[in-house]
Amino acid sequence: MERLIIIGSGPAGLTAAIYAARANLAPLVFAGYQYGGQLMYTTEVENYPGFTNGILGPELMESFRAQAERFGAKIENVDVTRADFSQRPFRVVAGDAHYEADSVIVATGASARWLGIPGEETLRGRGVSTCATCDGAFFKERHIVVVGGGDSAMEEALFLTRFGSRVTVVHRRESLRASKIMADRALAHPKIGFIWNTAVVAAKGEFRLDGLVLENLLTGERTDFAADALFIAIGHDPNTGIFADQLELDAARYIVSPDGVHTNIPGVFVAGDVFDIRYKQAITAAGSGCKASLEAEKYLEELDAERAAGAAHAPSAVLIASR
Ligand code: NAP
Repeated sequence: MERLIIIGSGPAGLTAAIYAARANLAPLVFAGYQYGGQLMYTTEVENYPGFTNGILGPELMESFRAQAERFGAKIENVDVTRADFSQRPFRVVAGDAHYEADSVIVATGASARWLGIPGEETLRGRGVSTCATCDGAFFKERHIVVVGGGDSAMEEALFLTRFGSRVTVVHRRESLRASKIMADRALAHPKIGFIWNTAVVAAKGEFRLDGLVLENLLTGERTDFAADALFIAIGHDPNTGIFADQLELDAARYIVSPDGVHTNIPGVFVAGDVFDIRYKQAITAAGSGCKASLEAEKYLEELDAERAAGAAHAPSAVLIASR
């Protein structure tokens, strides 16, 4: 029986773990087999405060983890396969084992969609990226390609004009899905060009990206295309599959949280990209992990007080009111 289970080990989950561990809650963190979140796929992180010269994404996440463990967080590199929030204590299945907890923080993040083309995986962090805010500054005066036709792609393309000598948006159709204001801004920008009805079908380069193969989807013709960077902006998928029947999700399957901390179930809190469709930054995720942990601590104090008063352990009006 745990006081607090944290599901996820990106900046949100591990910041929640640091705060909860320092509050003597000895949180159990299910980090996942691929622990550390999206920063594990990033090279240099230059916008996380406190690192004047930047820090490698995996190194940053190892530090988060060591800091949480230093204060007594228990971290398991296993995936949670099932969660049952319909009864108390809450039930969680991870690996082969069943766990119970008084409270849970869901910090499972969102995964950027990838194209699934040759070269994409090996050149990740070496010219291929899904995060312009993270990696754009490495491509000053270079030719940058952005894939996608939605708001994310337009936002990334506009942001990348600060760095690149030229930004080319490659989109699979001949009209944009993006909102009119974003589309108009990108279409009017002198540094941004568009290639329509076209897919990027391969990323080339041994140690760094040095070019792409494009396919015209109307004619099937393939051509080599010189590019120094490829930013894939075709959307994210929140990692909410195992919570679908229990936590309220929006149309895009992100967890609904009006205040960015509480969910529709008292005692189950949310942190990071799994609810945050807008900012998706390491620092915003870390901040929300802190908030979730402080709220979980408050919830557990109230639960203890209620138990001490001899009340039934079912959630009371006090707990519901604390949402
Ligand atoms: P999105 O609206 O789903 O757009 C994804 C884009 O990627 C679409 O143009 C889609 O093409 C393309 N795409 C998807 N899979 C592809 C593939 N395998 N190969 C090539 N292209 C592919 O996703 P989003 O742009 O991330 O936006 C998600 C939500 O966040 C939206 O509601 C958006 O309005 C919102 N958002 C808002 C802002 C803002 O207001 N500043 C910024 C970012 C996001 P098709 O068009 O052909 O489907």
